Amino acid sequence: MLVRCPAYLSKARIAASEQITNNTRQLYCQCLNLNCSSTFNASLSFGEIIRSPKQGSSKPDHTKQPDLLSNPNQMDLLADEPMYCAG
Ligand SMILES: [Zn+2]
Repeated sequence: MLVRCPAYLSKARIAASEQITNNTRQLYCQCLNLNCSSTFNASLSFGEIIRSPKQGSSKPDHTKQPDLLSNPNQMDLLADEPMYCAG
């Protein structure tokens, strides 16, 4: 997931994140523009439910949908512990 650097609106990557509250996560970002290379933080917060979960729904079944719960190629923004990207 990329965001925009506030300095020159270049693409920036999320290098790490930390859970602040149940609905808010702090993102630590790094600009990909080599002439800028600034670092900044941003917040990711829950907005509102647009469509309610299906009645009787539950957490995904790990045996049927193993990729839904974790993917080593994706940063888990919902992780409880701080996450850091390699590279
Ligand atoms: Zn920048």
